[in-house]
Amino acid sequence: MKTNQVLVRYGELSTKGKNRSSFIGRLRDNVRQTFSDLESIRIKAERDRMFIYSDEEKDMEKVLERLPLVFGIQSFSPVTQSELTFDAMKQAAIAVVSKVDRQNKSFKVSVKRPNKAFPYEKPEITQAIGSHVLRSFPELTVQMKHPDVELKVEIREEAAYMMAEVIPGAGGLPVGAGGKALLMLSGGIDSPVAGYHMLKRGVRLELIHFFSPPFTNDRAKEKVLDLADKLSQFGSSVNLHIIPFTKLQQEVHKQVPDNITMTSTRRMMMRVADLVLAETKCQAIITGESLGQVASQTLESLHAINAVTNTPVLRPLIAMDKLDIIETAQQIGTYEISIRPFEDCCTIFTPSSPKTKPKLEKVEYYEKFVSFDDLIQEAVQERETIKFPRVQEAKFEGLL
Ligand code: ATP
Ligand code: MG
Repeated sequence: MKTNQVLVRYGELSTKGKNRSSFIGRLRDNVRQTFSDLESIRIKAERDRMFIYSDEEKDMEKVLERLPLVFGIQSFSPVTQSELTFDAMKQAAIAVVSKVDRQNKSFKVSVKRPNKAFPYEKPEITQAIGSHVLRSFPELTVQMKHPDVELKVEIREEAAYMMAEVIPGAGGLPVGAGGKALLMLSGGIDSPVAGYHMLKRGVRLELIHFFSPPFTNDRAKEKVLDLADKLSQFGSSVNLHIIPFTKLQQEVHKQVPDNITMTSTRRMMMRVADLVLAETKCQAIITGESLGQVASQTLESLHAINAVTNTPVLRPLIAMDKLDIIETAQQIGTYEISIRPFEDCCTIFTPSSPKTKPKLEKVEYYEKFVSFDDLIQEAVQERETIKFPRVQEAKFEGLL
């Protein structure tokens, strides 16, 4: 008896008509990438479900550990294989049912018997296994219609297969099914959460971070690398583009009055992002902005920032409360990284009283005295690009 496969049920993609096969292919690639460091893993994607196999117990544990993070999966079940004898099957049934919550739960056994050579008929198999399970777990009650726990048994040529546990998947759509967008990733709490929401809708991410040495140090950068690594755990690799931003930021501070430097700095970020977006073939920019949180996140401010680009700017957190954002950050494991105390490039240059209602004409007026174009080009050209997850990089390349 061994648990050497997992059955995966697809999420929303089952309703997507003729896109279905490309969605399934995408999910298969993402699952493959998630386990690309585990040599024993085999994947078989069918129309209605996917199987992940491994004969290595350790690798199987990793599968169960990582699978809940992969988008596009509704639920999954570990499948236990046993020899084709009643004794072995009963023992396997106990092992499988022992893993599920049984308190006040109803139960049934359903048997499929594609192996017609097996010497017992369905009712005999159901009876033998069912009564054995009920004797071992008297807390279960029998119920034929909609039981809480269903032990599924399939008798095939080579073995019997059983499952009962149904583990919820991450839901959403397979990453990549919804195109690709450029996430502006700061070291803060909000932007990684914004990225997570878009990943869940199937959007693949490129990441861009603005870095201002010596005003921000390597430990601030380390934070962003760790966040990027976290974001790469949802079934798709990501590239992080680190933009040297010091010169642009200093130029902004020379040219525009203190109370609108924030707006102008954000506009420079957008302009840089737009060029990186074109080079990396992204279709939108994503930010972690949330209305009213800080001075730069009023509608007037967003309007003035947005005026430098025609690219769609997606703001998945715009109407969310900070506490809800924090809760998600905790769930996805980015919170602990985000609250590490290092300054990001904006905190340092933050004026004491930024305008909450900056006038677009005024910002444009002050920016007009110099051409920022060369500095923007230079920042884009001198960027450093790092791929995540770092450990699996080589294998991922080989598999795609
Ligand atoms: P966050 O928690 O994401 O930092 P915030 O509430 O601190 O957000 P701001 O600092 O005003 O808000 O930033 C708004 C958005 O601008 C961020 O969510 C992020 O998308 C982008 N941003 C800010 N600073 C940077 C940076 N240094 N590099 C990349 N993007 C940034
Ligand atoms: Mg911030």
